[in-house]
Amino acid sequence: MEKRTVEEMADTLQEASGLSRRDALKIAGVASAAMVMAPSSASAATPAHASRSASGHVVIVGAGAAGVSLAAKLRRDARNVEITIVDATEEHHYQPAYTLMGGGVVDGNYPIDSNANYIPSGVKWVKEKVLEVDGDNNRVKTDRGNTISYDALVIACGTQYVPEEIEGLSLDMLNNQALQTGISSVYTHQSALHTWTLHQQLAEQAKSRPVTALYHESHTPIKCAGAPKKIQMLMEDYFRKQRVRDNLTSTLVSPGGAMFGAAAVFNDALFNVYDSRNMGYKWGHKLVAVDAGAKKAQFEVAYDEYDEELMIEVTKTRLEEMSYDYLHIAMPQRSPGLVRNNPKLAHANSYMLVDIHTLQSQAYANVFGIGDVVNVPFGKTGGSVRKHYPVVSQNVIDVLEGRQPSAQFDGYTVCPLITKYGSIIMAEFGYKIDGEDNVMPSAPLDPGQERWMWWLLKVYGLKPMYYHGMLRGRA
Ligand SMILES: Cc1cc2nc3c(=O)[nH]c(=O)nc-3n(C[C@H](O)[C@H](O)[C@H](O)COP(=O)(O)OP(=O)(O)OC[C@H]3O[C@@H](n4cnc5c(N)ncnc54)[C@H](O)[C@@H]3O)c2cc1C
Repeated sequence: MEKRTVEEMADTLQEASGLSRRDALKIAGVASAAMVMAPSSASAATPAHASRSASGHVVIVGAGAAGVSLAAKLRRDARNVEITIVDATEEHHYQPAYTLMGGGVVDGNYPIDSNANYIPSGVKWVKEKVLEVDGDNNRVKTDRGNTISYDALVIACGTQYVPEEIEGLSLDMLNNQALQTGISSVYTHQSALHTWTLHQQLAEQAKSRPVTALYHESHTPIKCAGAPKKIQMLMEDYFRKQRVRDNLTSTLVSPGGAMFGAAAVFNDALFNVYDSRNMGYKWGHKLVAVDAGAKKAQFEVAYDEYDEELMIEVTKTRLEEMSYDYLHIAMPQRSPGLVRNNPKLAHANSYMLVDIHTLQSQAYANVFGIGDVVNVPFGKTGGSVRKHYPVVSQNVIDVLEGRQPSAQFDGYTVCPLITKYGSIIMAEFGYKIDGEDNVMPSAPLDPGQERWMWWLLKVYGLKPMYYHGMLRGRA
């Protein structure tokens, strides 16, 4: 990371936390060193050299974290390549801050910036939406009826929210009616704000009566899969601080069967946090319907039963209803239509089929995926995007120059597990090697420990690093 970025991070830390200049620089230094070292694969992933000879037209679909970071990197690495980025969205949101908004740590303005400030000069920005990829003819079609041809295409369109997969739920309820329904989600900007308001109201109610909060986990792959637990842990701490914890029943309700399936060290650490703070968890529960008026949630629960006739154990399902005062929704997600509706591009779970190392489409050699839209074993985090974009930049250059993709992604992802105000377990891991958990700590510290240092990094360091480092293609 560049010295300027470290200094900017230290400035923000100092201003926001009142730390001394020396301490702020120390934390920014550790953070940036950690981030630079982070994935051991970074060296393997980083392009060996910039290319003057690569030429052609690269189209990037999506101007989110992945699309903008890639555009900046490619602009720098391949000066003779023509780049077009297609996305109608003007605002750029630093989405990892939504959880902090939900916990009242930052306000609603904190995550927001403008794409115009980050899409690099020399990159053409088409403010339209791509409806279809015609990979056989190297072109995309937009909602305004335009066709854009490419030599290489990078799909960076993220995920699409589908709350309506749960009967009785809609985006409008989460964004606009949350305060009446008692249901919210940190997955949207508006609903993250409601999340904080609803928890404050709930804590007020807990002064005079017991209250129940449910934190749902999704049946679909989603971005930042740790977010529902983060907001649950943060809010449990808030109730302690308000001295109303005894009146709160806080339960995670998940279709899965583990706190953190990808790595045992984080699974154990989270169980410790939940058990020591008396937070509940229910496994094998898929949310299928919500009755917002009655404040009841219905779950499909799978169970095994011995079948006398077949003389084997068979899996059956039953419905279970739970009442709540507050319900947090982990937004069900799928890929946007341009991928989902294209059988050559989409996996059965709707996300984009790519080689999990090169991120090249399995159908087309000149098409790549990047960011949340790709179907890789873990990820859907900005931390993964940070490792995707140098890989994809190099591999696009390789393909334009007639070579096989040479850069490899090792699966690195990171989930800063907020356990309470001032405390985070930094879960960093990648693809399993020989079936073992592949924990990838970026600092030589016990990875399962809750630390104040990671809280400082998350709250004060990562946003400047995102906007001034990553979106500039520099970190
Ligand atoms: C609540 C929450 C907490 C999170 N916490 C963390 C965290 O702590 N750490 C972390 O690393 N990550 C975290 N993330 C995840 C991180 O924000 C995402 O992984 C990252 O933004 C992915 O980047 P992306 O470019 O793939 O998708 P996005 O940033 O979502 O961008 C996708 C872009 O594609 C555009 N698009 C969609 N469809 C089309 C189309 N048809 N045509 C053109 N453009 C299109 C969209 O308008 C959008 O601009 C969190 C996310 C959320 C919601």
